[in-house]
Amino acid sequence: MTQNHYNVIIVGGGISGAALYYELGRYTDIPKIALLEKYESLSTLNSSGSANSQTIHCGDIETNYTLEKARKVSRTAKMVEKYCLQYSYENTILFSHQKMAIGVGFEEAKFIRKRFNEFKELYPYMELYEKERIKEIEPALIYDEQGHEREEEVVGMGAQNQ
Ligand SMILES: Cc1cc2nc3c(=O)[nH]c(=O)nc-3n(C[C@H](O)[C@H](O)[C@H](O)COP(=O)(O)OP(=O)(O)OC[C@H]3O[C@@H](n4cnc5c(N)ncnc54)[C@H](O)[C@@H]3O)c2cc1C
Repeated sequence: MTQNHYNVIIVGGGISGAALYYELGRYTDIPKIALLEKYESLSTLNSSGSANSQTIHCGDIETNYTLEKARKVSRTAKMVEKYCLQYSYENTILFSHQKMAIGVGFEEAKFIRKRFNEFKELYPYMELYEKERIKEIEPALIYDEQGHEREEEVVGMGAQNQ
């Protein structure tokens, strides 16, 4: 019986396992590394492009992140972006897109405005959208199918081309 011996065995061929496999293969001198995947191909679950939203969570519109967490996450998220730009993956696997976090109602609108002011230093490209501006960029958030305007306060923070 043939025996295979490995210095490292990574279990699971999603993005985490594949990234670790790449890093160890490229940046260490570990001689034998195996990646085990239980299904027929890599990334068929969460990491499949059709199973997630395909956005880089850099912390700008993740309203559950503290500023401290956002600082850490944004530094690492930038590495993904830089990697793609360095290898000219723009418009192949890396795309610019608009994004927005919205607050509907008095308390939520207050939360978004406060968050925008706290986070704008870290994400200088972010914009604050008041209701009038949202009417222009995302009217379906403000008007129903009959064209009636919603009464609640609505505020968004986001970016048009990130
Ligand atoms: C609806 C949705 C939207 C999301 N949107 C985003 C987003 O916009 N941006 C973002 O950054 N993240 C998003 N995520 C999260 C992101 O998709 C996951 O955090 C990420 O894909 C997890 O990668 P993973 O490699 O850890 O796990 P997985 O992709 O789940 O990979 C785990 C792998 O391990 C294999 N495995 C498990 N057990 C064994 C075993 N015993 N032996 C061998 N193989 C095994 C599995 O088959 C699988 O292939 C989203 C997730 C969901 C569900």
